Amino acid sequence: MNAQLRHLPQIQAVLEMDEAEALSVKYSLQEVTEAVRQQIAFARSEILSGQRDTDLVLDPAFFENIEAAVLASRKAHLQTVINATGIVIHTNLGRARLAPEALEAIHRVGAAYSNLEYDPDTGNRSSRQGHVEDLICRLTGAEAALVLNNCAAAVLTSLMCLAAGRTVLASRGELVEIGGAFRMPDVIAASGASLKEIGATNKTRLTDYAEAIDDDTGVILKSHTSNYRLTGFTAAPAREDLIKLAEAHDLVFLEDLGSGALIDLSDHGLPDEPVVRDVIAAGAHAVMFSGDKLLGGPQAGIIAGKKSIVTQIARHPAARAMRIDKLNLAALEVTLRLYLPPHDPKSAIPALEALTTPAKTLRMRAEQLKTQLEGADSLHVDIVETIAQMGGGTLPGQDIPSYALSLQSERLTATQIAKSLRSGTPAIIGRIQKDSVLLDMRTLSEDEAKILGMLIPQRVAQ
Ligand SMILES: *Cc1c(COP(=O)(O)O)cnc(C)c1O
Repeated sequence: MNAQLRHLPQIQAVLEMDEAEALSVKYSLQEVTEAVRQQIAFARSEILSGQRDTDLVLDPAFFENIEAAVLASRKAHLQTVINATGIVIHTNLGRARLAPEALEAIHRVGAAYSNLEYDPDTGNRSSRQGHVEDLICRLTGAEAALVLNNCAAAVLTSLMCLAAGRTVLASRGELVEIGGAFRMPDVIAASGASLKEIGATNKTRLTDYAEAIDDDTGVILKSHTSNYRLTGFTAAPAREDLIKLAEAHDLVFLEDLGSGALIDLSDHGLPDEPVVRDVIAAGAHAVMFSGDKLLGGPQAGIIAGKKSIVTQIARHPAARAMRIDKLNLAALEVTLRLYLPPHDPKSAIPALEALTTPAKTLRMRAEQLKTQLEGADSLHVDIVETIAQMGGGTLPGQDIPSYALSLQSERLTATQIAKSLRSGTPAIIGRIQKDSVLLDMRTLSEDEAKILGMLIPQRVAQ
C-alpha cells in the first residue's frame, strides 16, 4: 500500500503533461488543476481503503476522466429530479411545483423592470404588499395581510413585534418541531419573548390558560401540530374560547397554521388541515402559514388577520429584513388568482391537482407505463396499491390512496435499482419497500410518466 501511495503522481507533474496543457487551453488551468487534484485524492482514498491495488496510470482514460470532471463542474448544481416518492409537498425535493401561470409571472417580472414598489397612476412610491394583500383578504376573509420570506419568518417576526419582553402562553401539547432548526420553544426565545408552558402534554384546559395570565402576558399562541397527533386521553380548549379569553385580557391570539389550506381538502384524505378562512372567522387576531405547502405556490410566509395587528407587524424592522422577494411575489400573486373564477384550484394548481387526482386515474397511468416497460430486459414490473402523503410536515396518517410501479430485477438488488434510477439527470427518486423499488404515480406529471418509460430501461435494464 505504501508503495502505491508513493507512486501517486504529483499534481504539478500531471499539469506539465501535454494532455493536461491541451485541456488547460480548452478549459482553464484552474478547472483542470482542481479536477487533477480530485482524481489523485480519489485514488489515494481508494488505496487507503483497500479498494485499489494497481498504480494510477496517466493514460488517455485518465485525461478523459479529467475532461468529464471539468464538464460536470460547469453544470448547474441545482437540477430538477423526478419525484416518484408519493410525497406531494416533499421538503427535500423543493416542495410545491408551480403552475405554468406562476412560472410565466416569474419570467415576465424577472426579465424586466416592474411596478414592484411604484404606482404608475400617481407616479409615487407604493408597497410591494399591495400586489397580494387584497387577494389574500378575499381568499381568507382577513382585514389585512403581509407576506414575508417563509412561515418561519412570519412566526418569528410576529412574535418579535407583539411579544418581545413579554410572555407567550403556549400549550405543552403544541410545542412543535417542524424539522431541524424550527422548534417552537426556540423560536419564542429567539423573538425575545419568554414561553410559559400551559397544561400537560396530553391535556390542556381553558382554566390552565386563564390561571397563567398575569401582567407580563402578551400573546396566546396556538400552533398547528401538523406532523403529529395526540390521541387517547386528551383535551384542548376550543379555539373560540381561547380567543374570548385573549380578548377579555387584552391579549393577542396568534395561530401558526403551517401548511395553511385555502380550501377544504377533507374529502381528499386531509381531514386535519384547518382552513385559513375558518380560523380567521373564529376571530384569530393573526394567523401565519406557508406559501409553498398546501397553498401550492412559491416559498412565502403569509400573515393574515386584523388590520391593527398586521399593520403593527409590517412596521417592525424584522418584517423589512424578511420581506418576500419580487420573483416569489410575482408567482404568489398569480397562484392566488388561480383560486378565483374562472379557475378551479384543484386542477389549476399542481400541488392540489396531485393531491386530488382520483386513484383510478393513477392506476391507468401505472398501466400505461407498465405496457411501455414490457420487454425491458431482466426487469419485473408490477402495479401495487400504495398510500401517498401530502408531506411538508403533515401527518403521515392522513392517507391518500395511490398506485405505484413496483420494480424488481434479475440482476440488481432493490438498493442497486434505486441507485441506478438516481444516477443521471433528471435523477428518479423512488422508495424501497422490501425487495422492490416503488415509483408512486401520485407525484408524477403526465410528461414525467412518459419520460420514465424511456429512462427506466436505460438505467436499470441495459
Ligand atoms: C412548515 C411549518 C412552519 C415553517 O414554514 P416554512 O414556510 O417552511 O418556513 C411553521 N409552522 C408550522 C406549523 C409548519 O407546519
